Amino acid sequence: MSTTKYIFVTGGVSSSLGKGIIAASLAKLLQARGYRVTIQKLDPYINVDPGTLNPYEHGECYVTDDGAETDLDLGHYERFLNVPTSQANNVTTGRIYQSVIEKERRGEFLGKTVQVVPHITNEIKERVQILGNSGDFDIVITEIGGTVGDIESLPYIESVRQMKWDLGANNSLVIHLTLIPYLSAAGELKTKPTQHSVKTLMESGIQADILVCRTEHELSQELKDKLALFCNVEKGAVIQSIDASTIYDVPNMMREEGLDTITLKKLNLEVGEAPKLEVWNQFLTRHKNPKASVNIGLIGKYVELQDSYKSILEAFIHAGAANEVKVNVEPIHSEHIDASNISEELKNLDAILVAPGFGERGVEGKIEAVRYARENNLPYFGICLGMQMAVIEYARNVLGYADANSSEMSKNTSHPVINLMEEQKHVTNMGGTMRLGSWECKIEPNSIVSTIYANEIINERHRHRYEYNDHYRDELEKAGMRTTGTNPKTGLVEIIELPEHPWFVGVQYHPEYKSTVANPHPLFVGFVKAAHKYSKQTTDK
Ligand code: GLN
Repeated sequence: MSTTKYIFVTGGVSSSLGKGIIAASLAKLLQARGYRVTIQKLDPYINVDPGTLNPYEHGECYVTDDGAETDLDLGHYERFLNVPTSQANNVTTGRIYQSVIEKERRGEFLGKTVQVVPHITNEIKERVQILGNSGDFDIVITEIGGTVGDIESLPYIESVRQMKWDLGANNSLVIHLTLIPYLSAAGELKTKPTQHSVKTLMESGIQADILVCRTEHELSQELKDKLALFCNVEKGAVIQSIDASTIYDVPNMMREEGLDTITLKKLNLEVGEAPKLEVWNQFLTRHKNPKASVNIGLIGKYVELQDSYKSILEAFIHAGAANEVKVNVEPIHSEHIDASNISEELKNLDAILVAPGFGERGVEGKIEAVRYARENNLPYFGICLGMQMAVIEYARNVLGYADANSSEMSKNTSHPVINLMEEQKHVTNMGGTMRLGSWECKIEPNSIVSTIYANEIINERHRHRYEYNDHYRDELEKAGMRTTGTNPKTGLVEIIELPEHPWFVGVQYHPEYKSTVANPHPLFVGFVKAAHKYSKQTTDK
């Protein structure tokens, strides 16, 4: 019998209450008290993974070392805990059904009728216990996506009910995250929606153990006591989660409210000494006391939605703190820029980052932005598609190949400087078939990246189908675009730089996925430093 303890986090009243941040904050506190913790997200949608989803649907698609395309909450888990996650940390209804249906086709159910209960629920329970049974964790926190009462959440809720029963007292608990709305006309905080959502949970046989209440105003003791009484939870188990100015404040706020201690007591685990949060709090001090600020343009086509580039925005926060600089990220829609307005749009910036992306929409604006940065010595950082755009721009405006392009954007270009790898040419299924996950890269000496990375061999995460076309490598290098990182096994180009430029780096991989509070990504740290230097030079003039 495994000794792992399980915590389930459900949501009530409304979506977008920040279950992922609450789960990550609790995990951080438990980790800081010496426990080995991981967090898992169960998503009730039918896509097998979010890899085929447009960022407008659920925000950024996050990628793990083992190449899983996952919900963006896994990014928060890694950024808070500084421990890598894997495919096991994100399960969707699509994946559950796919696996059950494959078992049925193999005849594994021995002639039985395959049903939601027990077959789907058993599959869910197994997926939750995979992490617990690995022996790597003392505590597994499982976040159930969606809101209690949703039709699609029901099999998950039933699985939680069964697991609570299987595990017995003190081995699992349910934290229900809910909203306490404030009615300004009445000048009052309202508990009724929470009472109803706790009741909905009870209809499925689950009594919440702890309530975490999102609120814009302080909850009085009287109101907490009322919630405890009517929702049938212990008095100390009503936790307030008031709006924070940064998500990185939430662990300390949860600590003040006692979320970690009540959790440990209910799980019969030792509370022990105060959590060790020195590194975390040093980061917060630097983040909140910047000595200067820089303006960095984030050029992409999903910029109107904050969540589309979540990991990039968070990596800037980590790198800003490391440099003691406030990074103001200015979102610039790539469809709204062209040669006629580019200098106006970018003139107040200290650096630009061209974002990852797919498809043709907005790419000409990105190429224009690259040209501006290259010609004006403005620090440039291109990630994935942003690196590909830098290669195209150089081929067009320096090599003089006017129609140079990626074969993703133009099948008929006479100069496909970015094109499909041979093994991608026969791919027909779009889901899970890109170059994904962690790949090695060998760094060339005497380059920007060799000073930034301490190692000659690095590992970074990928998510793309198209590649730098090796056929043009000699020409591009002779013309001044240096290759400073390649895959040691395949020779694929991973990093390009312009040695004549103060800071111009394009990477085929996604460094943003690996930036954490404890380990800000060195490329982002170096880029923010270059932006700061640029800003000092321009203000000194
Ligand atoms: N669309 C490009 C490719 O598939 C870039 C992908 C990305 O930016 N993540 O290669």
